[in-house]
Amino acid sequence: MRKLVVGNWKSHKSLAEAQEFVDVLDAHLGADAAGWEAWIAPPAPYLALLARQSARSGTLRWVAQNVSAHAAGAHTGEFTAEMLVSCGIHAALVGHSERRERFGDVDDVVRSKVVRCLEAGVLPILCCGETRVEREAGQAFARVEAQIHHALSGLAGSDPVVVAYEPVWAIGTGLTASAAQAEDMHAHLESVLAALGAAGTQILYGGSVNPGNVRELFEEPHVHGALVGGASLDPASFAQLVRAGA
Ligand code: PEP
Repeated sequence: MRKLVVGNWKSHKSLAEAQEFVDVLDAHLGADAAGWEAWIAPPAPYLALLARQSARSGTLRWVAQNVSAHAAGAHTGEFTAEMLVSCGIHAALVGHSERRERFGDVDDVVRSKVVRCLEAGVLPILCCGETRVEREAGQAFARVEAQIHHALSGLAGSDPVVVAYEPVWAIGTGLTASAAQAEDMHAHLESVLAALGAAGTQILYGGSVNPGNVRELFEEPHVHGALVGGASLDPASFAQLVRAGA
């Protein structure tokens, strides 16, 4: 099964560097996008331009790293899900652990962002994951299950969502969940989602994925793709990840 690879650039790259990335990635992957699926979440100010650039090359799809929990109104600094649609953006990360930890995206805010995305026709990529302390206390499954329930309960199981399991202790640390740890959690998530009527939801793994560990992770049947931070910044390494998913 083809795996989805989503890059998360966080607050990295100038616009010129981002545009150059697209050209270099095109050269690495070639024009034929038939075998793979690659999306990137760049800094928000570049989204509309990059979407236009790659509509020409056909290589990539672009994703927002964030979205407002509110509809249009007097919300300085926010951008709505409808604005993303108007820029040709089809998906947004919601609930990334960096936003949960540093920017006040608590469970209720995450749920509002999921709802706003669905109302506007944007696909939410719902991030969840346990801390090191929670894992060591044997609470990893319960924590992740609670995050999913909070974000999705009351929604229709048929609402389109992608889930990204990202253990907080593995993000940007160089520590990766073993393929077995990822598979166990993904299988658990699949049953949690099935109970919510959302069987078949795509579940990505994130946490220090790189060209050296991606194949082992992708061999696991419940790992449907990867959400990648650091290793998505370099076009050669991102191309290797994308090819591993083909
Ligand atoms: C992320 O930011 O979602 C992430 C998984 O980062 P990294 O790959 O650098 O751990």
